[in-house]
Amino acid sequence: MDALSQVTTAQAAIEDAPTLVVKVGSSLLVREDGSIRRDWMAALVDDITDLVKDGRRVVLVSSGAIRVGLRVQGRQPDNLGLDEKQAAAALGQIRLAEAYADCFAERDLHVGQILVTQEDTEERRRYLNARATLNRLLDWGTIPLVNENDTVATAEIRFGDNDRLAAQIAVTVGADHLVLLSDVDGFYSANPNEDAAAIRFDTITEVTSEIERMAGDAGSGLSKGGMKTKLMAAKMAMGA
Ligand code: GLU
Repeated sequence: MDALSQVTTAQAAIEDAPTLVVKVGSSLLVREDGSIRRDWMAALVDDITDLVKDGRRVVLVSSGAIRVGLRVQGRQPDNLGLDEKQAAAALGQIRLAEAYADCFAERDLHVGQILVTQEDTEERRRYLNARATLNRLLDWGTIPLVNENDTVATAEIRFGDNDRLAAQIAVTVGADHLVLLSDVDGFYSANPNEDAAAIRFDTITEVTSEIERMAGDAGSGLSKGGMKTKLMAAKMAMGA
């Protein structure tokens, strides 16, 4: 199959998937100054609404809490201690969830907030409980809105990035597809901002060690992931 028909096949599969997990990165949703891009959010919510009204089950994993919370305090995202990030997440998460809840409510849909730590997905009883809650929300036609529980997740027990968290959630709900939305338009052989010769891959069918070597870390600010964590997420999802 050539690359274009593979992309087309992947898109068609997403359109038909009964259960999807969609992850949104901070840099897409939140401006440098910490304000939420409401137009972008509305466009995303429109797309998800179409899917849900068509009977699809969609889990939304969204970053942005820390950046939004820092704006509330008028602070910059530089040189922050863990406690400052956690306090910012507490201030930001409530506003992020409110923005999503308002946006979905305008379309007659409801979101339910789920904040998890890595432990919640590793300890069997907590994992089963989280899974039951996610599935119940999906059965009700509502949208689980997931983020890491940054306010309590210390370094040792953190996912740290929402790419792998989203992959874990995809495994938990048995999703057919995991979609990682980013401000980078695809996977490149090198960082396209630094290397003009970087080539974009439309389709990658196997995460080989050569592909892994090409992936970079997070670009800027409070974005925790990067292509590395996206590949890890892809591997986790493919493995499941
Ligand atoms: N949980 C963090 C937040 O909401 C984001 C982690 C990430 O960017 O992957 O700010």
